[in-house]
Amino acid sequence: MIPSNRPGTLAARGAAVLQSTYGRYPIELVSGSGCRVTGADGREYLDFVAGIAVSALGYAHPAVVDALRRGADGLIHVSNLYWTEPMVLLAERLTAAAGMERAFFCNSGAEAVEAALKLGRKARPGRSGIVCFEGSFHGRTLGALSVTARPRYQDPFRPLLPDVTVLPFGEPVALDERTGLVLVEPVQGEGGMRPAPPGWLAHLREACDAAGALLVFDEVQSGMGRTGSLFAYQAEGVLPDAVTVAKALAGGLPMGAVLARGDAGTAFEPGDHASTFGGGPLVASVALAVLDVVLGDGFLAAVGERGGRLGEGLAALAADRSGITGARGRGLMQGLVLSGPRASAVVEDLHRLGLLTCPAGPDVVRFVPPLIVSDAEVDEALHLVRRAVG
Ligand code: PLP
Repeated sequence: MIPSNRPGTLAARGAAVLQSTYGRYPIELVSGSGCRVTGADGREYLDFVAGIAVSALGYAHPAVVDALRRGADGLIHVSNLYWTEPMVLLAERLTAAAGMERAFFCNSGAEAVEAALKLGRKARPGRSGIVCFEGSFHGRTLGALSVTARPRYQDPFRPLLPDVTVLPFGEPVALDERTGLVLVEPVQGEGGMRPAPPGWLAHLREACDAAGALLVFDEVQSGMGRTGSLFAYQAEGVLPDAVTVAKALAGGLPMGAVLARGDAGTAFEPGDHASTFGGGPLVASVALAVLDVVLGDGFLAAVGERGGRLGEGLAALAADRSGITGARGRGLMQGLVLSGPRASAVVEDLHRLGLLTCPAGPDVVRFVPPLIVSDAEVDEALHLVRRAVG
């Protein structure tokens, strides 16, 4: 690498040349192994952010490293003008495991949501109404932003997509004949690690069937095993018409997908949608390696157990600390709910103690460790949280 001749810390140099879209912490990370990352100053952190629910197998996992090495000697990228086997294998395995039939591959969560929104328009022509929910987060591109019910994110970019109705999360819905698509996170992530109340997804399924609308679950954050089943909806026994996936899909490489079934799976025709990089052989090979591990014997059960340990530990903390009102989440997607907007302060205290977490809203501290986290690492994290909250 050619060294920089610019003066100042990395943070100062970065602030001078990067657009100011992120508020970054003053930590420079240089390496990682398992559930731990190391800073440029040699400091080691236990990582319960995992790239915001991306690095499902942690860092330098042999299955990911091996797939990357083998893939790097191959084609890396092939246009969607041609066939490549990893893409087809991944579509076969992922759709079968998800109870879906057909996949469209892209590169991120927002792109998967965009594809789902277009799928709704195509599969339900003339019904442009979209229902999303309070507290939702579906991404930052204009379509995805239109269904992300947050004025602070939306207002500077209006006008957004028309015909979007925002309903309360977890409450009964009544859909009319203009609704073509209902989009929901089975466990809200950015909205504060909030699982849908039991039975509500089944209610949405019934309401969509009655109205003839597509039901799309956004499992960009909750999918790929994070909640203890491959997808959160599988624990509820409710099948959507389509599901969006990204984040953990390719173990840290950028990849997204929309998996769909029935007429939602066949609505797109050549020319309707595309992605230059979507489903490339390198990312698809890595995603196959990740999927093999996640669907391997006992893996998802272990995620459920570690998640239970983490959730119970956080709930116990909430029970005897006055500034904490509760803990919620599912599997290894947990949040500590504070009594005020202090999540950023707690996250920074945890940095000082050597634990990486991040906020999910102003009053929730988010815990989304790699899915390979051990009992001992969960206990270590809980110990540090106990110290941070006093
Ligand atoms: N959908 C959900 C549920 C998410 O949590 C996110 C990101 O946090 C997105 C969509 C957007 O994903 P990306 O940042 O990859 O575009």
